[in-house]
Amino acid sequence: MASRRVVVIGAGAAGTMAAIFAAKSGAQVTLIERTKDGGRKILISGGGRCNVLPLSVDESRFVTDSSPNVLRKILRSWPLDEQVAFFEGDLGIPLAEERESLKRFPASHKARDVRDGLLTHAAQQGVTLRMECSVTGFAAHEGGWRVSIAGQPDVTCDALVVATGGLSVPNTGSDGTGLRALAALGHAIHPLYAALTPLTSNSPAFNALSGISFPVTLTAKDGARSSSWTGGFLFTHHGYSGPSVLNVSHVVVRSRLEGDASARVTVRWTPLGDREWEEALKPQGARTVTGALRAELPDRLADALIALARVDPQRVLSELRRDERLRLVEVLVRGELPWNGDEGYKKAEVTGGGVSLAEVDARTMESRLHPGLYLCGEVLDAFGPIGGYNFLWAWATGRAAGRGAAAT
Ligand SMILES: Cc1cc2nc3c(=O)[nH]c(=O)nc-3n(C[C@H](O)[C@H](O)[C@H](O)COP(=O)(O)OP(=O)(O)OC[C@H]3O[C@@H](n4cnc5c(N)ncnc54)[C@H](O)[C@@H]3O)c2cc1C
Repeated sequence: MASRRVVVIGAGAAGTMAAIFAAKSGAQVTLIERTKDGGRKILISGGGRCNVLPLSVDESRFVTDSSPNVLRKILRSWPLDEQVAFFEGDLGIPLAEERESLKRFPASHKARDVRDGLLTHAAQQGVTLRMECSVTGFAAHEGGWRVSIAGQPDVTCDALVVATGGLSVPNTGSDGTGLRALAALGHAIHPLYAALTPLTSNSPAFNALSGISFPVTLTAKDGARSSSWTGGFLFTHHGYSGPSVLNVSHVVVRSRLEGDASARVTVRWTPLGDREWEEALKPQGARTVTGALRAELPDRLADALIALARVDPQRVLSELRRDERLRLVEVLVRGELPWNGDEGYKKAEVTGGGVSLAEVDARTMESRLHPGLYLCGEVLDAFGPIGGYNFLWAWATGRAAGRGAAAT
């Protein structure tokens, strides 16, 4: 029997993995990509080092408007240790563990090794790579699919995998063409939003702290959602970035998109809570308020927080009034982080929302609306936090879609 002809649109993380596994499963595979070399997001990921996978997976950290049960089922289809074995064994890319950040990187610390390793492996499995081909649409055709490519003849296939990504960092090739085509085919697209994106601020006091970086606990909340994260925080010239900010940013972004902009972001600037700060602010000889805060925080930040609490920095702790102490503790433990916007898709590491997980078979990633159509990666309604979670999702959904598409 002739092998199934599978076309994969998008040579990003998910599509390349789908092509590899469709070919490994015996299909005749063509991988179509708009850019000249594919995998552009892999190249820029993890600051050029590519955080390929996390050290461990906390499934509850994924965000979706679809069923969390379906999401978990999909994630578990390719367990983390098997993914690690695939990279190290099949691709020959040893991974190094970074214990303090709970991340895995290629031991070479070169994202290019991951991108090139995947594409080379795809070619070795017999995948035909067609770069600089921009897909303009696709439609069901004689029991299979027909794919239209700008300026080139249409391509037909038995099964089609859509791995065109979301809307983030459009100059990597993903601009939403796939999502628009899927919507036109009747797929329900949960509202799209920029996620893992920096926040902006017009607070002169905080913007002056640009460059200061250290761990905090951030909580973003609006009427409908809440997200909290402990991790790195960075003051930038016009706002905030770092893992803790990126990981809670979707709450702010969605609040803005929904027009109420009521999201509040609060910060616990140190691991100390109310009781510990009460203790730290008790009289200690000639120690001043500045001395007490600088013992726990970068100097310039300590000074800014004292000013925010409207306390005299030179006040000796033994003379600190109760109302001043309460204001200081409030700022230090539940300080309001002023924000006025976000950096949007230009800087977003992922796109939130996408095709409802209810509309794919969690085992094969086949569309429940259109037989022979498979979806994977960021086009789907799920994203995870910083730390290799989003590649984990791309690899798992890509593999499942490739295998599903190759099966008769
Ligand atoms: C700056 C940055 C850093 C990141 N770092 C990490 C990290 O360290 N770890 C992590 O886990 N995640 C990271 N991510 C997230 C991760 O890169 C994405 O989650 C992942 O790449 C999504 O994979 P995908 O294949 O679904 O989409 P994409 O990687 O976006 O791939 C989609 C592909 O489809 C192609 N395409 C789109 N439309 C068409 C069309 N019409 N015709 C032909 N081709 C088309 C695009 O050119 C692209 O190659 C980072 C993201 C960014 C932006």
